[in-house]
Amino acid sequence: TTTAATDEPQDREQWIRVEGARTNNLRDVSVRVPKHRITVFTGVSGSGKSSLAFGTIATEAQRLVSDTYPLFVRNRLPQGRAADVDRLDGLMFTTIVDQRPFTGNARSTVGTASDIAPLLRLLFSRIGSPAAGFSPAYSFNDPGGMCPRCEGLGVVDDIDLGLLLDRRRSLREGAIRFPTFAPGTYRWKRMVHSGLVDPDQPLAALPAAGLDTLLHAEGLRLSDPDPEYPKAGRFDGVVPRLRTSYLRKTPSRLTDEEKTALDRVVTRSTCPECGGTRLNATARASLIDGRSIADWTATPIGELRRIVAALRFPSVAPLVRTIRERLDAMKSVGLGYLSLDRASNTLSGGEAQRVKIVRHLGSALSDVCYVFDEPSAGLHPHDVHRLLTLLTRLRDAHNTVLVVEHHPAVIAAADHIIDLGPGAGTDGGRIQFEGTPAEIGATRTATGRMLHTRIRVNDRPRTAREVVTINHATAHNLHGITVDVPLRVLTAVTGVAGSGKSTLIASELPRQHPAFTVIGQAPLHGGIRSTPATVLDIAEPVREAFSNATGLHPSWFSTNSRGACPVCKGRGIVVTDLAFLDDVRTTCEACDGSRFNPTTLAAGLHGHTIAQTLSMNATRAKDLFSDHPEITRRLAWLDQVGLGYLTIGQSLDTLSGGERQRLLLARHLSTTESAHQRIVLDEPTAGLHGNDVDDLLTLLDRLVDSGATVIAIEHNQRVIAHADHVIDLGPGAGADGGRILYQGPPAGLIASPHSLTGRHLRDFVR
Ligand code: ADP
Ligand code: ADP
Ligand code: ZN
Ligand code: ZN
Repeated sequence: TTTAATDEPQDREQWIRVEGARTNNLRDVSVRVPKHRITVFTGVSGSGKSSLAFGTIATEAQRLVSDTYPLFVRNRLPQGRAADVDRLDGLMFTTIVDQRPFTGNARSTVGTASDIAPLLRLLFSRIGSPAAGFSPAYSFNDPGGMCPRCEGLGVVDDIDLGLLLDRRRSLREGAIRFPTFAPGTYRWKRMVHSGLVDPDQPLAALPAAGLDTLLHAEGLRLSDPDPEYPKAGRFDGVVPRLRTSYLRKTPSRLTDEEKTALDRVVTRSTCPECGGTRLNATARASLIDGRSIADWTATPIGELRRIVAALRFPSVAPLVRTIRERLDAMKSVGLGYLSLDRASNTLSGGEAQRVKIVRHLGSALSDVCYVFDEPSAGLHPHDVHRLLTLLTRLRDAHNTVLVVEHHPAVIAAADHIIDLGPGAGTDGGRIQFEGTPAEIGATRTATGRMLHTRIRVNDRPRTAREVVTINHATAHNLHGITVDVPLRVLTAVTGVAGSGKSTLIASELPRQHPAFTVIGQAPLHGGIRSTPATVLDIAEPVREAFSNATGLHPSWFSTNSRGACPVCKGRGIVVTDLAFLDDVRTTCEACDGSRFNPTTLAAGLHGHTIAQTLSMNATRAKDLFSDHPEITRRLAWLDQVGLGYLTIGQSLDTLSGGERQRLLLARHLSTTESAHQRIVLDEPTAGLHGNDVDDLLTLLDRLVDSGATVIAIEHNQRVIAHADHVIDLGPGAGADGGRILYQGPPAGLIASPHSLTGRHLRDFVR
């Protein structure tokens, strides 16, 4: 439980002061944030909470600090847009703890990301036997410790011939399914004219030896090439060629097209040498009490904590204590079911943020300002209370804690509340309230009302006339579950984090019943050029509209084409390559970051340039295109899913996981007839204010009434209480979960004696 600090901050030194902030939708906001307190920023989605906490306070604080660093350090720091603000006082060293997933880096695990891995290595280097060396010898990111076969990745990628070859075709017809081997290309000519096989026979009909040479030869001198063979000495087979040209390159050196092409022909498997542990034999042979560091990192954190607690080595007692504290912290944020070897890029946004919380707790700084983005995302109410304990601990260690949140328990635990609104986008951006949780409860702000609305349990649930059955599900931690999923109703799937909800519903269900579409929170493909406009397929019609209005060809309105700013090539930033240092990225001065060239920027539709249009939110853009029904129809879906405030040209990597999911839902709904759809959503309310949750429920109800089946993995009490059917998993996480605790209408869940979810819901409906 948490205790609010009581003494009022008195003097100027104790406040962060913001004067005249206009970042994004903020309307000249002036506000003060108490230091060494927990301040929660509330308000409907799109009201400007993030623009104030992240876009103004955190951005400026980081910029201030970064200005004191040498250039090469500065360029390693995240580059945000400068905030638009008259004056900021009392800024301090600021750390952003957000839900950005740990993307890309295959070398990052829960252990490395939480900074627990170095502690374990230190421990093994001290008391492991036989000792492998000092601590880098236990690191899979160090040549001294990494498995030589997979270079510490735990997996090996290789060309999958089943995917690469179309055996019904001949070489000449393009039997090799890779762009650089397509008919007419240089490599295709080398194959066809090599004289190794008959290029007009389907691969399936070729003699095995000839095909083998064609695929696997390395540095072969051809004895009998045909006269058209391109003049260049040696011949390499398809597979070694692909390996050296693509597989051995670091992914960041490949273009998006190359990555996509490679994904189609490559399969990934566990490294046969290290069994996926990433470590070399010496590191794996070193043991403490019969277990190697690989065994430790493969053990769920809750259990590893017990193993560590049982160690009796006086010489390393302080180190053991530190490790235990870190593991405890991981349990406190509801991550006890994870193992330290879990790849970071498989974590959800909420899980990723909680790993970051633990890392910061461990660094034991004080007088730091931490800014959190909805840390309750993905957490069962039971775990939210433990999360609050950690935030309180950060504060009590003399830190300043800023939290953007909707969760009533987090709001209640705040020392101070800053509420924005009243609406979203241009209807928001003003301070509605500053004060304590008790005080906001008494106001008529959207947040005040939300805190008071009692949750009504659905007493007239729809009954299903038809079900599909998930049979004997055993993936991950599921204990051979068989469960009925009702059709044409709204089902909530509940349970603590790690109990197996996603495994059951987002992976087993669609595997056994492929008619279900899973709309999750995963990052979308398509790189930095993807925006809500491209996802909804309105980019093309928007260009057409500009073309019709201005007489310029549509390609002038594309940054991939004639419209691109010539200086930055349509990227909006200029990247300077500093050879040995990281690249320097600066906003392009020629186009001021708009990505378009002067000709394009001189052309307008109803007085707006394409750049201005792309920086409008969906609601405004809908007005601009009111005489283009196909554009407005699609934009209207953004409103429906509560994303009317999104800027249509905003890069997708600025969206939260919940926003990405609602965007995908909008796309799905705009392209599919709603009757008979079967949709699975993973915490669709993440990032939504209570009022917006009601709007989302209205939308889901409409879908169900028109014949759709909707299944939502959820922690939100309103959604659970509103559902027709609940499937509750548990009782715990990982191996302690994976069983069905309850299935039936929400009213029955409240009465269920075993369910933690039911108990919390009971408190909520009073
Ligand atoms: P909240 O955090 O309350 O949900 P935000 O601060 O994210 O709200 O958004 C407030 C307004 O600013 C919205 O209209 C949103 O579309 C706009 N906005 C947010 N981020 C950006 C951005 N990177 N570029 C342009 N507009 C943005
Ligand atoms: P929930 O959705 O309820 O949070 P999950 O289905 O994600 O739970 O996880 C259930 C169990 O399966 C956990 O022990 C988790 O660690 C494990 N698990 C989930 N995804 C993976 C994965 N990609 N690799 C290995 N284990 C996983
Ligand atoms: Zn290996
Ligand atoms: Zn430019």
